[in-house]
Amino acid sequence: MPGSANPSPHPAGGAEADGYRHMPERITSLDELARRLPGLVVTDDMRRTARRYPFAVTPYYLSLIEVPDPSDPIFRQCVPDPGELIENPELSADELGEFTRYSPVPGLIHRYPDRVVCMTTVFCPTYCRHCTRKRLVGKPAGEPTSAVLDAHVDYVRSHPGIKDVILSGGDPLTLPDERLEHLLARFRDIPSVDILRVGTRAPVTLPSRIDDALCATLEKYHPVWLNTQFNHPRELTPQAATACDRLLRHGVPVSNQTVLLRGVNDAPETMEALCRGLLRVRVRPYYLFQCDPVAGVEHFRTPVARGVRILEHLQRALGGLGVPRLAADAVRAGGKVPIGPSYVLGHKNGRLVMRNADGETVTYPDGPSDCSAGPAAPSRDPRPAAPRRNPPSPPG
Ligand code: SF4
Repeated sequence: MPGSANPSPHPAGGAEADGYRHMPERITSLDELARRLPGLVVTDDMRRTARRYPFAVTPYYLSLIEVPDPSDPIFRQCVPDPGELIENPELSADELGEFTRYSPVPGLIHRYPDRVVCMTTVFCPTYCRHCTRKRLVGKPAGEPTSAVLDAHVDYVRSHPGIKDVILSGGDPLTLPDERLEHLLARFRDIPSVDILRVGTRAPVTLPSRIDDALCATLEKYHPVWLNTQFNHPRELTPQAATACDRLLRHGVPVSNQTVLLRGVNDAPETMEALCRGLLRVRVRPYYLFQCDPVAGVEHFRTPVARGVRILEHLQRALGGLGVPRLAADAVRAGGKVPIGPSYVLGHKNGRLVMRNADGETVTYPDGPSDCSAGPAAPSRDPRPAAPRRNPPSPPG
C-alpha cells in the first residue's frame, strides 16, 4: 500500500503552527480588517462576536468582497455579525449530536453504518460565519492530538463495515502535506476501507492550496473524492476553477455541498447561477443543505419552504446533472433527510397522477401490482447461457 511503510506515528510539528502553515498572511484581527476594507465600521458587538467565535479570512477570499457590509454575500460569510450572538434557547451548540451520541472516539462521528467522519484539525483558512462546528473551529485547545488520530485509525480498522472515511475538520487541507499524507496512508492501509473523502473549503477560500504537490499526494491514495462548499457564483473565480481543474486532472472527483444561507444564496436565480457555474468547472452540485440549527447561525437560517421553492426552480431550469439534492440534518442526531417538492398527487384507475415541471397534471400507467414472483432467479453459472434450441414464442 503506498506510504504504508512510514515508520513515524505522526510527523512532528506543533498543532497550531501546522494549522497556519498554508496561510501566513491571513487576517485575524478586526482592526486589520477595517484597514483593508475602507468604510467598514467595527462595532463593539462585532468584537464581542469575534471573541466568542474566532475570526480569520484569507486575503484572497477578502478580495472577493465588493461592498463592505452584510449585503455582500462574501462579506456576510466571513465577517463577524452580531446576529451570531442571538440566543435561541431551543438550540444547543451540538444540536446535531455529532459529538455526543455518535462519537465513539473523540472527534470521530459514526452516524451511518458504512462511513465515518474524522475531525482531523480545528483550523480553517477562513472561519465561515455559518459553520455548523463554529463552537470548535479556530480554538487550538481542541486540536486533535496524535493519540486521538491514532484512535480514529484503530477504530476504523476494528470496524470492517466502515467503507468510507471522510477527513473533515476544521479543514484537513490546513494540515501540512506530510501529515495529511500520513493520515491518508494509514486509512488506505486498512483493507476494508473502499474510499477516502476530503471535506474542504480550500478551493473556495484558499485555492492556491490546491497545488500540484497536494494533488500528487491525493492521487497516491485513490480512490480519493473531494467535497467542497461553493455558496455563491462570485466564488467561482478563475483561481477556484484552476484549483478544481487541477484536482480533476489528478483523478479526484469534486462535488459541491452548498449551504442555503439567508442573504447569500436564498434566491432561485442566484442558486441557478451557482449550479450552472459549477457545471462549467466540472464540479457536481451534490447537496443543497438547509442551514443547520446550531447556536450562532440563526440569522442565516431560512424556512424550509424557501429551499423547496429553490429546488423546484432548479428542477425546471436545469438538467438533472445540475440539480443538487436538498436535505436537512435532523436534530438530536436524526441524520440527513432529503426534502423537496411533491410531484405525486395520487393514484387513480391504476395510474399515478402527478404534477410536471410546468405545473400540468399528468399521469403514468403504474406497473403490474402482482410482483409476487419477484425478479428472475440469478443463474448459478455466471457465464452467458447457451442459446436455446427452441426459443419461446414472443408474448402476445
Ligand atoms: S471551512 Fe468548513 S469547518 Fe471551516 S469554518 Fe468553514 S464551514 Fe466550518
